[in-house]
Amino acid sequence: MATSSFTNKKTLGLETVEPAVTPHTDSAATTFAKKPKLTTSKARKRDIPEGLWTKCKKCASMIYDKELDENLKVCPKCQYHFSIAARERIHALVETCSFEEMDADMEAVDMLQFTGVAPYTAKLESYKKSTSLKDAVCTGIGRIGKHRVGLGVMDFGFLGGSMGSVVGEKLTRLIEAATDKGLPVIIVSTSGGARMYEGMFSLMQMAKTCAALAYHAKACLPYISVLTDPTYAGVMASYASVGDLILAEPGAMIGFAGPRVIKDTTQAELPPGFQTAGFLLEHGVIDAIVSRSEMKARLSYYLDFLMEGREQFAALG
Ligand SMILES: [Zn+2]
Repeated sequence: MATSSFTNKKTLGLETVEPAVTPHTDSAATTFAKKPKLTTSKARKRDIPEGLWTKCKKCASMIYDKELDENLKVCPKCQYHFSIAARERIHALVETCSFEEMDADMEAVDMLQFTGVAPYTAKLESYKKSTSLKDAVCTGIGRIGKHRVGLGVMDFGFLGGSMGSVVGEKLTRLIEAATDKGLPVIIVSTSGGARMYEGMFSLMQMAKTCAALAYHAKACLPYISVLTDPTYAGVMASYASVGDLILAEPGAMIGFAGPRVIKDTTQAELPPGFQTAGFLLEHGVIDAIVSRSEMKARLSYYLDFLMEGREQFAALG
């Protein structure tokens, strides 16, 4: 499973100091065989306090954490979009104090008594502590611009944003509540796919969420799917790909299986960057690429358009 750039952010501190590697000089062969590692001196690294700086994965600049937070976890130099926690994203999207969370205490049950490298229950406990969430999605009703919306936001920091029973059930309840109240739905996805610890129970969430969305669509209510880096597998194969409008953040990796699996299965040469948001926009899979700083305004604009269209449609009978 891929790891998030945010959750595994590298800070320059004592524990990350790597020893400078000096190439061997005793024989010409070893000098050329080993590539010298480029690194700054130990003394220089120790001068930087731990936990204050994050290195950009794209342009390698060092960004002051406070500046990164203020910029919604987007690199100010190259606009690389770091992973952002669900609650931070909700805060950035909805009007102040307008979000009422739903099913905040719903927790996963270890139905299969799964034990892998670590027991499922132990994994859940550790991620609950590290993210302050009970599972990988946060749902509720909030206001964006003048519209009340059912908003579901996934968090990659909780077990790779994997979709288990809780993610599926919370999203289904959100969609059903939005259908009852006549509200649009927005789901911001980031996920490595179905949660292997819950086996088939995870896969069943694909059908359940899509069925709820079908009833929502039948009520002529809009659903906007926002894909963020990364959105893969069971999530992309279900609710994330059936939006009336599908938006993506710049640079997001989106797909079903990883490139290596596709290449091994099809034995075909894959075009470069074929799972990037840019490639998918060119090929009509997604409708627009919207940067994080613009997302709230754009969602508000699209909701104006979609909800006005719905009222006109309803007036026609
Ligand atoms: Zn950068």
